[in-house]
Amino acid sequence: MKQRSFKVGKRVYSNPAVVDLVELHGEVSQDPEEIIRHLARNEIADARNYGLSGPPFDPRILASIMGIQPKESKQLIHSKDAELQPIGKDNRNLIIKYNPDKPKTRQNFSIAHEIAHTLFPEYRDQYKAHHKIGKFNPDSEVEFLCDLGAGEIIMPAPEFNRDIEKMGISLKSLERLSKRYNASLEATANRMITTNLDYCALMVLGYSYKPSELRQIENAKNQPKMKLRVQYSIPSKYFFTYIPKHKSIEESSPLYEVSVTRNPFQGNIIFNFTNPALDTYAEAIALPGTHNADFDSRVLVFLF
Ligand SMILES: [Zn+2]
Repeated sequence: MKQRSFKVGKRVYSNPAVVDLVELHGEVSQDPEEIIRHLARNEIADARNYGLSGPPFDPRILASIMGIQPKESKQLIHSKDAELQPIGKDNRNLIIKYNPDKPKTRQNFSIAHEIAHTLFPEYRDQYKAHHKIGKFNPDSEVEFLCDLGAGEIIMPAPEFNRDIEKMGISLKSLERLSKRYNASLEATANRMITTNLDYCALMVLGYSYKPSELRQIENAKNQPKMKLRVQYSIPSKYFFTYIPKHKSIEESSPLYEVSVTRNPFQGNIIFNFTNPALDTYAEAIALPGTHNADFDSRVLVFLF
């Protein structure tokens, strides 16, 4: 029987859409991340001949050049942000409907994410899949790859790489580049790390319980306290310390203060949850949160 899952580095892929993608583009790479970046770059390169320019790069223009009609809509069915809708005879044409009430940066990323879906073979069968854009959740393979592709579309090489070479990775360059490319701070930080041009890692923290505490909460009277925990981390190619997910930040850490005061932090921090403990220079900034008031804040950290 044909093998329908494979491993690249630490990541295992088993989603049929991803397996098909690698089978179809095996000559490019065996790594679906490389393939999606490559395909997104090809679309951008083609579109430049038809007038796409930037920064900022407008994914609506890219979509139009690709024959996909971008359309504002307040009646989205599968997503709060954007979705693909096949139309016309045999569903041959596509519309990207997007929510005009979202911030511009989020609209841009959502549209680019939908464009990335069309880079997959057989995407027309999958367009109803539940989308969670901007969460960068590696558990959902296709969504993770579409977020990667979206980053490449909004912040394409060579412009973005040139900017990183000039400015380096820091909070200051993050803020400048996010404005320059009309991208959110989080999407920009993700893209900065994947350029692999610096020795650093990105870590995003949010308030949550440990997975084991969630089971406990259902029948306990004394609820455990929500802590600032690692939601995800992305190392650049040369950052070798493994940062485990869900680990909590010590309450004495200046990162708690960032989440409360929303003032940025620059300085040395010791993390005891890595092995060996990580004593490193870090820069951190508060991100807008996703849910309720008290624990709404998320923190983005660059580790050097
Ligand atoms: Zn999606």
